[in-house]
Amino acid sequence: MSFTIELLPAFADNYIFLVSDRDLGLAMVVDPGDGDVVSRALKERDLFLSLILNTHHHSDHSGGNEKLQREFGAPVIGPAKEQSRIPGLSRGVAHGDVVTFSTLRAEVLGTHGHTGGHVSYYFPKLKALFCGDTLFSLGCGRLFEGSAADMWDSLKLLRALPDDTFVYCAHEYTENNAKFALAIDKNNEALKKRAAEITVLRSAGKPTIPAILSSEKTCNPFLRADDHALRRALAKSGGIAEDADAGAVFGMMRSAKDRFGGQKL
Ligand code: ZN
Ligand code: FE
Repeated sequence: MSFTIELLPAFADNYIFLVSDRDLGLAMVVDPGDGDVVSRALKERDLFLSLILNTHHHSDHSGGNEKLQREFGAPVIGPAKEQSRIPGLSRGVAHGDVVTFSTLRAEVLGTHGHTGGHVSYYFPKLKALFCGDTLFSLGCGRLFEGSAADMWDSLKLLRALPDDTFVYCAHEYTENNAKFALAIDKNNEALKKRAAEITVLRSAGKPTIPAILSSEKTCNPFLRADDHALRRALAKSGGIAEDADAGAVFGMMRSAKDRFGGQKL
């Protein structure tokens, strides 16, 4: 059984993920903000949609649910906590639940912070993590419905996944995130290398997604809020106290990124 994961660009900077089982002609879609984009892609590939996954209720992730449901009758799985705000929700899930597509199993991870019920889906066989607007490459989602502590806990949960996990995040914010990361973590050689790769990819019009989790663990400042060297550097520039805990370091970086700009969601 072979599976394909494709990125379908939507709106200004969203990615919708199409996972297909070509042997059976079946597909699953993650965060279909735009139903037309998905519908067109399915027709071009002669695939039937059998499952819709949502990470959270924002319309750039769930706005296409109803159109696709009408067209294919596919069930929508999304966070139980956001039940009333997810169009067409068929099954609400929470941390620890399991979701299946074809012969694949996904673990549902509770990753709130961006929204109150945000979940991520980890498919061990694909080594794929669909994390919506929680973890971005070199960044993380804005805190709309949760606290900095919530988001830091969620990111630690994702950080605990295997190094070779492919991170499928829902926005192409990487280039802007890299600028911010370099500004606060100037001496990180791995980050400089990743930033250079990103510049090459983006100037060729290519996506920076999926990111590899091992690289995020060393380069993404939001996954390194408990790193002593980073904390010392931030304390030196006057952002935080020398003995600040990881939650405070994370909160300081998130507020600084909000002021830095360039990231809408
Ligand atoms: Zn969002
Ligand atoms: Fe989003």
